[in-house]
Amino acid sequence: MPAEEVLKPDQKVYYPDPSYQNSALIRDYDELYREFEKDPDAFWRRIASDLLWFKQWDTVRTWDHPHASWFTNAELNITYNCLERHVNNDRRNKVAIFWAGENGKERILTYYQLYKDVMRMGNALKSLGVRKGDRVCIYLPGIPELVVSMLACARIGAVHTVVFAGYGAKALNERITGAGAKIVITADASVRRGGSIPLKPIVEEALIHAPTVEKVIILRTQEPKVGLLDDFELDYEELISQADRNCEPEHVNSEDPLFILYTSGTTGAPKGIVHTAGGYMVGAYYTTKYVLTLRENDVYWCTADPGWITGHTYGIYGPLLVGGTIFLTEYTPDYPDAGIWWKLIEEYGVTIFYTAPTAIRMFMRMGEEWSEKYDLSSLRLLGSVGEPLNPEAFEWFYKHIGKKNCPILDTWWQTETGMHMITTMVGLPMKPGFAGKPIPGVVATVVNEEGDPVPPGTNGFLAIKEPWPSMMKTVYQNDERYRQYWNFGKYGYYSSNDIAMMDEDGYIMLLGRSDDIIIVAGHNVGTAEIESALVSHSAVAEAAAIGKPDPLKGNIIKAFVILRNGVSPTPKLIHDLKYHVRIMLGPISVPAELDFVDNLPKTRSGKIMRRVLKAQEMGIDPGDVSTLDE
Ligand code: ATP
Ligand code: MG
Repeated sequence: MPAEEVLKPDQKVYYPDPSYQNSALIRDYDELYREFEKDPDAFWRRIASDLLWFKQWDTVRTWDHPHASWFTNAELNITYNCLERHVNNDRRNKVAIFWAGENGKERILTYYQLYKDVMRMGNALKSLGVRKGDRVCIYLPGIPELVVSMLACARIGAVHTVVFAGYGAKALNERITGAGAKIVITADASVRRGGSIPLKPIVEEALIHAPTVEKVIILRTQEPKVGLLDDFELDYEELISQADRNCEPEHVNSEDPLFILYTSGTTGAPKGIVHTAGGYMVGAYYTTKYVLTLRENDVYWCTADPGWITGHTYGIYGPLLVGGTIFLTEYTPDYPDAGIWWKLIEEYGVTIFYTAPTAIRMFMRMGEEWSEKYDLSSLRLLGSVGEPLNPEAFEWFYKHIGKKNCPILDTWWQTETGMHMITTMVGLPMKPGFAGKPIPGVVATVVNEEGDPVPPGTNGFLAIKEPWPSMMKTVYQNDERYRQYWNFGKYGYYSSNDIAMMDEDGYIMLLGRSDDIIIVAGHNVGTAEIESALVSHSAVAEAAAIGKPDPLKGNIIKAFVILRNGVSPTPKLIHDLKYHVRIMLGPISVPAELDFVDNLPKTRSGKIMRRVLKAQEMGIDPGDVSTLDE
């Protein structure tokens, strides 16, 4: 490719379709940010006042660094806002959940049905002695019962800890014992790619050393039904059918815990993040309404499993708080073929589709012939989360899925933040490769090690200066670990552990984890820059970069590359790829070594684990790999 045709990632800008700017759904970014800056408490008070509270707060926010309280002394129940708020209005018969199972199975739950199911499950849990503050572990695949179970816990003030149903016995045991769960809710099996994966044996193994567990509730979906252990294992359906119908919502304090959720374990051992009821509810509601612009008549699909924070905030709580319709499925993106997700979008008329770069890059690899078979014209907005969305993946998503009609939200946030923090809100010009700006309500910046701002265009650390409503309360039973987050530089900012660059317009590009940063001949190089440059070559589907110690340069860059379907690896291609990176980023960032591979080590949530590649390369211990997808 001639050099002139290679565009650097920060050179392209997409201006939004004017119809988006005029849309009543969109609030002007600057205006909203000014409202926040003028009086943060008044801003959050206004947002929180859309929701129903049993008792008003005394103060919106108290900030005693590093501990914040939100909506102090208020009382609420998030399920009252997710259910009664709609059931008592015109939305009683509105679809809350469309669920599509493999082989064309379908289930539809209206808000009223969901409300009834949640109350019964709430009472079922109460009948087993579950009280406010008790922990309940939920180990279920993405089926409506998972939503019901989560909301049932919240209904009675119990703390849920959801464990992704793809995790094995060890990871499950660690989360059950870590949280001290009293009850485990699970199923006999999960359906995946035309087969079923038994879950019960995994749970049995996970319970061998789990003394806090008193009962296990099992949803039995298979015939013949699996046997149950007397007095210990209970049938889900039976329990619900015997439970009382009406379950009043527990009045929980704003600062009471709502759930514990473990981080993905990309950079090290997963952390048990605690979120509280009031602040989390406000953050989830605000961002779903203003960032995702989710409205009542949307059919919204968040492809993240409910076992991740994205599945919690934007798969369940946020959409239910705004009264939207959730689409949920057990279909993986490639079974029975690589067109299935597009087929589902057409069939259900999905309007907002929120997914992850790992999925987008997989679809790129398979080719656009799959999406072209289906009518995707119902889509109005696309989103991405989890890793940097490489400009090439952005372009593909924009062109082949959004048909150049849908804005793309590349949302940066974390399990710890509970809600979106940085993105390009609908209506703002989009720059592929940049997540965008801190959303109104978030004060984030790029700083050096001391905590002082770095000039535009310079790599630094992404730090958050002020608390926000859905920030984590603590790390479960490890407040010392929590304090470390708010200890960055001389001002004690919240450290995200990500490196970033802000341009002249205030747009932020995420460059990789600070743990993965590569220092080549004294220059800081982010892994994402190199990976995006490689992915922008037409032969490359996915790439991962690591630093390898080198006596001369400090480090050299080594890249692992997955080629697109039909491309074969040749020495000439290695040369071309290095040349391509040189043109895009300059000589410092050129990988000295390049390997072609068939897959990359990833977490179960689909993030590249560079520390595993590095450990393999150097023959050292990779650390905690409990979340590695094998
Ligand atoms: P662990 O903290 O256990 O290492 P993790 O950081 O992957 O795991 P999550 O909370 O699931 O756990 O992920 C948050 C991280 O994901 C962010 O800190 C960031 O590195 C990455 N991330 C999320 N969204 C984006 C995005 N839009 N662009 C770039 N990076 C993102
Ligand atoms: Mg993290």
